[in-house]
Amino acid sequence: VAAEAGGAQHKFFDEALNARAKDRVLLEAELRQALLSGQLRLHYQPKVDACNARLVGAEALLRWQHPQRGLIAPGLFIPLAEDSGLIAPLTDWVLHAACQSLRRWADLGLAMLPLSVNLPASSLADAGLPEQLSALVQHYGLQPAWLMLELTETMLMREMATAVAVLDRLRALGFGLSLDDFGTGYSSLSHLKRLPMSELKIDRAFITEVARGGRDAALASAIITLGRELGLQVVAEGVETQEQSEFLIGRGCRLQQGYWFARPLPPEAFEAMLRAGTTRV
Ligand code: C2E
Ligand code: MG
Ligand code: MG
Ligand code: MG
Repeated sequence: VAAEAGGAQHKFFDEALNARAKDRVLLEAELRQALLSGQLRLHYQPKVDACNARLVGAEALLRWQHPQRGLIAPGLFIPLAEDSGLIAPLTDWVLHAACQSLRRWADLGLAMLPLSVNLPASSLADAGLPEQLSALVQHYGLQPAWLMLELTETMLMREMATAVAVLDRLRALGFGLSLDDFGTGYSSLSHLKRLPMSELKIDRAFITEVARGGRDAALASAIITLGRELGLQVVAEGVETQEQSEFLIGRGCRLQQGYWFARPLPPEAFEAMLRAGTTRV
């Protein structure tokens, strides 16, 4: 009986795996199509000064408007794109879309706040990235400082040698550089010292529990101090409650992003906030 059950279980797993593999292949083909047929969207999440809810920037977050499955979050298709060679055209699309939005906001006479864009792990291996980005912002008539590039610790540590050279060049060209999800990857603090970052983003994992005191509060406070000592702008991400927000303000971290202020928004809704200059509209 045991052997039989084991067999049945194997069969079940095989079928589930098979279904997932098929799903993956299908999804990959669909993603390829999505790039060509305009199913990708950027949503924008405000970054604010928590003391007065004024906008100080925004993060562009990718969405896939799938004709049958609806709006798909990036966690479900970015890894697939990274494994399938689609990440390069996808990142191109994101960068062009972000620049087009900045161009539009400039043409509308709106305040030009830095727009953050997430770069994939592979991007830093490309020594040509700084000049490509420079040409891109020139093409759209933008200033490099209007773009903030978000990178994670893990991707920096993986290619430390090339990464430092590429980042130094990006900074020299005037781009903003943000260390995203800080505290979740593994990095040594001595590496942090060598990286020419302009911003450090405290990962949501530390923010969730801060208002209850304890270890996350201690870690968040330490990261805020560390960032400040290194001369970096420190941003807390994933702020969901007033208690979290106030705790962070108390520790000197006024720059915040999270559902407490605003969710990632489609362009029209975000533009309304940009016009108002605040998330309190
Ligand atoms: P991330 O860069 O750390 O982005 C923050 C994520 O937290 C976003 O999820 C955002 O919607 C979510 N978030 C913001 N505030 C809150 C909050 O108060 N509570 C909670 N629970 N979540 C909050 P999203 O949009 O699903 O993106 C997930 C990840 O996908 C991003 O993490 C980023 O690593 C990646 N990603 C997003 N857009 C792009 C892109 O254009 N290119 C690349 N390569 N990766 C992207
Ligand atoms: Mg990010
Ligand atoms: Mg993050
Ligand atoms: Mg993240």
